[in-house]
Amino acid sequence: MKLLSIAEQAVSSEEDLVSLSGEFGQDFGGILDRRRFNAKNCLANCKIEIIDKNAAEKLVPHIHMPFNLAFYMPEAINVNSKYYLNALFLACQNIVKELSASGFGKKNLCLQKKSVYELRELEGKQCFLRHGDGKNVENKFVLWWTPENGEYDAVIICLGAKADLLPELAGKLPLRTCRGVILHLQLPDNIGEDYPDHGPSILSDAWLAIKGNRRLDLGSTWEWKSRNSSSNVSTDEASDALQELLPKASAIYPGITSWSFAGARAGLRAMPPLTPHGSLPLLGCVNNILGNDLICKYWLLGGLGSRGLLYHGWLGKLTAEAVLSCNEQIIPSELTSWKNKDSRP
Ligand SMILES: Cc1cc2nc3c(=O)[nH]c(=O)nc-3n(C[C@H](O)[C@H](O)[C@H](O)COP(=O)(O)OP(=O)(O)OC[C@H]3O[C@@H](n4cnc5c(N)ncnc54)[C@H](O)[C@@H]3O)c2cc1C
Repeated sequence: MKLLSIAEQAVSSEEDLVSLSGEFGQDFGGILDRRRFNAKNCLANCKIEIIDKNAAEKLVPHIHMPFNLAFYMPEAINVNSKYYLNALFLACQNIVKELSASGFGKKNLCLQKKSVYELRELEGKQCFLRHGDGKNVENKFVLWWTPENGEYDAVIICLGAKADLLPELAGKLPLRTCRGVILHLQLPDNIGEDYPDHGPSILSDAWLAIKGNRRLDLGSTWEWKSRNSSSNVSTDEASDALQELLPKASAIYPGITSWSFAGARAGLRAMPPLTPHGSLPLLGCVNNILGNDLICKYWLLGGLGSRGLLYHGWLGKLTAEAVLSCNEQIIPSELTSWKNKDSRP
């Protein structure tokens, strides 16, 4: 939440960064007790209310609740991660400007939007020779902090589900991939009864992220073992996703049947293995895995699975502290134990 407010301050308005102010979760059995416990012991800044059908219907008319019980989080929000990341980068640029202006010496922050084919490229000068060889790889970005002499003290590998496409890491990460499709729905002009003002998003068997009165996102599918990382969704894939998600959504919000398809996007999750502590992200220094002939220090921040937005601030902070102090012990051992030989593929 602190990062979110930093991002909000960096852009002039919070429009597009965050939508809505509530989230409404319904349990279809199994973990009710744990959820009740969470609701009773929630943090002051993360309120969870236990509500009944009547209260839920006041929030979302005609909602369907088989258990007469739901968990309402009045302060929950949806984050538009693209705008959020752009705003965070702007905030970093502002800090660099402020530090430079306040006599701490000239600082530079450099964002290079380039695909990295292998880690060896980042070792000294080879880095610049290998780019522009015409390989057709997605033109996304990775953020590199460089010291003034142009070489890297440390490299943090955060390529999501593509981390093991780096030849140095291929077959060495205990990650499974899982593609997910999200559908954009809108309410046609001829439908009068729209989603209520400030109505909460809904987390159920499927989730509905509400974007105003007449637009929402419905998610998401779980296609295990897919390696397709394209954000584009074909007509067939969108139609399959609709067939899968609409019944789940209408089980709780029957009004969804009036909404129409307005597009779809997809992503690839990097799922970490299930351990006795749950499915935990993969962190830590990876030089021991990569081999001894690399000069700089390499770190991994990966396996964020389906909860990357939730964890990223904490994991980013842990990694930054470990990198700056060259001390992996700062990171809880549960997050680095995947590097033990027995835990690797
Ligand atoms: C459908 C769906 C719904 C989700 N819903 C939620 C949710 O509600 N809440 C939540 O917390 N999480 C959710 N997630 C999970 C969340 O999106 C991920 O956990 C998170 O994005 C992982 O972050 P990351 O930085 O590790 O990887 P990514 O977000 O995948 O970022 C990796 C970046 O590296 C770039 N890259 C890859 N290869 C290279 C290369 N060779 N050279 C240069 N750059 C490269 C990519 O282009 C990308 O920009 C969802 C995921 C999906 C697919």
